[in-house]
Amino acid sequence: MKFTVFGIGSATPQIGKHPSAFLLEIENEYVLIDCGEGTQFRLLEHKIKHTRLRTICISHLHGDHYFGLVGLLSSLSLARRNEPLTLIGPKSLLEIVNIQLLNSGNDLSFELIFVPTDPQHRKLVLEKKHFKIECFPLIHRIPTTGFLITKKRGQRHLIPDKLPDDFPHTFIHLLKEGKDVTDELNGVTYHYLDYTTEGDPPKVFAYCSDTAFNPGMLETIKNADLIYHEATFTKELTARAQKTQHSTAEQAAEIAKAAGAKKLVLGHFSSRYKDIEGHLTEAQAVFENSELAEQGKNYEIK
Ligand SMILES: [Zn+2]
Repeated sequence: MKFTVFGIGSATPQIGKHPSAFLLEIENEYVLIDCGEGTQFRLLEHKIKHTRLRTICISHLHGDHYFGLVGLLSSLSLARRNEPLTLIGPKSLLEIVNIQLLNSGNDLSFELIFVPTDPQHRKLVLEKKHFKIECFPLIHRIPTTGFLITKKRGQRHLIPDKLPDDFPHTFIHLLKEGKDVTDELNGVTYHYLDYTTEGDPPKVFAYCSDTAFNPGMLETIKNADLIYHEATFTKELTARAQKTQHSTAEQAAEIAKAAGAKKLVLGHFSSRYKDIEGHLTEAQAVFENSELAEQGKNYEIK
């Protein structure tokens, strides 16, 4: 699973800092998380094949998290996309998208499957063979959810040396799926436990933006391999963070530490900071494996 940062900015536009948008690559398909203004240009810059973009998750309806959505959908339609697209977000998002498309006389060339998030409870919003997406409540001025994306345990690994020469090779995939295979020609049963080892463990990514300090989500995001957490402010502005329902870098690090995360990536920096090194120092004092999100950077979650 690979996480790519498209934007590190927040609500006030900043030259060189794009608004929130992030791409997850899982098993040959993409999930876009938030879609700030101009996100479609980031997809072009990164040469992302739009046919492999299958899912878009929107955390909340503050503009810096979704004003790029209708532009992106319109462009996908211009490109005559056929593949269905799943849109996951606050329930009024569909109404907003529909009214814009309707008034532009623009019928989408593809099916848009809408799944509403629940800002009150953790909820499974998408389940696929290789991964699942859950939303969970964040604390913000309007209904907002984070997203927990879990890449499921991989297929079992074959031990090629152990496999007898006369094993019917067309059934190898069954062993990898954890199923015993009986060869009907000679009645021999091959037990998958004898020929395979366990697949790669599940990988967990937690997206937490925008939110005030939110220990209520710890149970949901515990032991995540990577947490992306907003750090709009540094700790001198804790009162302002509380008032605007954002977090400081220190609070984000406290969450990562308490969750037992492996790594923390901070973003959504306020435009008041010309230099964001203070965010890093502050976070690392609490949780050492903290990093500042960098636009265009990929983070392998392995
Ligand atoms: Zn917001």
